[in-house]
Amino acid sequence: MCGIVGYIGNNLSKKILLNGLTNLEYRGYDSAGISILSNGNIHTLKTKGRVKDLIDLSNLDKVDGYCGIAHTRWATHGEPSDINSHPHNNQNNTFSVVHNGIIENYSDLKNFLVSKNYKFISQTDTEVIPNLIDYYYKEGNDFLHSVYKACKHLKGSYAICVISSIFPDKIIVARKSSPLVLGKGINENFIGSDIPALLEYTKSFYFINDNEFAEVLKNNIIFYDENLSKIEKKCKEINIDFSQINKNGYDDYMLKEIYEQPKSIFRTLNNLNFENLNITKEYLKSLKKIYIIACGTAMHAGLVSKTLIENLCKINVEVDLASEFRYRNPIIDSNTLAIFISQSGETADTIAALELAKVSNAQTIAVTNVPESSITRIADKVLYTSAGPEIAVASTKAYTSQISLMSYFSLYLAKLLNSINDDLLKELETDLNNIPNKIKELFDNLDSQIKDIAKKIYLEKDIYYIGRGLDYYVALEGALKLKEISYIHAEAYASGELKHGTIALIENNTTVISIITNPLLVEKSISNIQEVISRGAKTIIITNQSLNKNEFNHIIKIPEINSYLSPILSIIPLQLLAYHIAKLKKLDVDKPRNLAKSVTVE
Ligand code: GLU
Repeated sequence: MCGIVGYIGNNLSKKILLNGLTNLEYRGYDSAGISILSNGNIHTLKTKGRVKDLIDLSNLDKVDGYCGIAHTRWATHGEPSDINSHPHNNQNNTFSVVHNGIIENYSDLKNFLVSKNYKFISQTDTEVIPNLIDYYYKEGNDFLHSVYKACKHLKGSYAICVISSIFPDKIIVARKSSPLVLGKGINENFIGSDIPALLEYTKSFYFINDNEFAEVLKNNIIFYDENLSKIEKKCKEINIDFSQINKNGYDDYMLKEIYEQPKSIFRTLNNLNFENLNITKEYLKSLKKIYIIACGTAMHAGLVSKTLIENLCKINVEVDLASEFRYRNPIIDSNTLAIFISQSGETADTIAALELAKVSNAQTIAVTNVPESSITRIADKVLYTSAGPEIAVASTKAYTSQISLMSYFSLYLAKLLNSINDDLLKELETDLNNIPNKIKELFDNLDSQIKDIAKKIYLEKDIYYIGRGLDYYVALEGALKLKEISYIHAEAYASGELKHGTIALIENNTTVISIITNPLLVEKSISNIQEVISRGAKTIIITNQSLNKNEFNHIIKIPEINSYLSPILSIIPLQLLAYHIAKLKKLDVDKPRNLAKSVTVE
């Protein structure tokens, strides 16, 4: 969560910092702020609200300089307010800090500092950091050692950038369990929470690992390990096209990303190579279990993957939420393969779960969309979705790329194991390669049909999603999309489970959306829909089956495909439905309230 930008160099920093913040705003957007060094002083301006509100501050015109830091916040400690916004400065205004993460022992540190006569003005955990740095500076340490000593006392997670009016020629950065990248320029250097924030300025990046530090000067960056010994880092060239990060004429990133799905899936499937995973038939036979660990939408992609691997490869697969897995003493050993799915590659819970699996000797594979993200440096092997930068907070193209990748991976494993017959294998391979075309076919007339339905239901308070098997997993994802961006209460249930409790909530005119794509389960699913119709429900059906139109309020037809792959198609009308409902409610679909892309806190 939260976006950090830093700049030091021959150019004035304000424009660069504000541009960087605008590019990073999807990471947090409840407040924004900037600290710039000029005339020997730190000038800090910050406000509750969006980056635009920061840009509109009248005093901003008067401030500029060649070194600065900036932040867009996703509050963890203290409500979004002007005072709680970052940067946070020590009481003498000599150190200024932007922070991503949570300082878990801030209360103890605050008590310690108060006992030393430090005064606090915000409710944040972050404010202890500049004051602790000041404390160590006053003990006689230089800038780097003051930051280093302060960090040694911080428990929790942090990516920090610190500037000082006493040391105006450098920015000190440090990280532990929160992302941070350094961009190299000519006579200038950049700091950012992620690569896209800086792509406008550089394609050369350094990556620092947990517990490392860097002194960022105009002409040099010096790296240090956890003992403050100097270390060398190689600069890497990143080939992401900055033009991928614009709306391309669409009203919102989310809509653009929904329509990009034929391309993102095509790219993902064509860029995959499983050979370097070094997986053999013998290894697969030795496996007791595959774990798939993820959060949110990525976990829903994991559920779909479970069905494919179990059915096609006959290997036991367990899917878990990273935030649960990491604290429940899971049974893991060297006969476990653990797969971690994270679009950003920075999801704090997923990374912690990955570290746990590694300590327990499991083989680990990361599935991510972001090259050089933290997860790629920890997992044994990495598989990339090539969906391209996903900017909208609600994931769409990353989800279908994750499922496409995992479907292809399941087929690869099935081939190694010889666990499915050739006809099925061929059919699945052909259908998978055809998915981009099938999505294009689905897009014909879909938008107007979905808009019509959205107009009828956008004022509802509760919407239910039901399905069986893979369709249930799609229902979970469809309901999550609606909750995320329209704030309508939505719940997904396995169709057969409804009668065990939830059907009590169905009353006259309740909307129930049902996904039916498995020919073997059509009749069972229709019976469950009849049960809700009998209790007054309005029904919307997403299906590739031939159903009797008169029985339901709306039917959205999706192209036929082998039912193992149907989630990639059936989710698309649900993504669009959530989008159009949110638009009718005049909500910011790309930046829904309380959410942020890249969940880097626990
Ligand atoms: N914990 C800090 C705060 O609440 C930083 C949150 C963030 O990462 O945006 O201010």
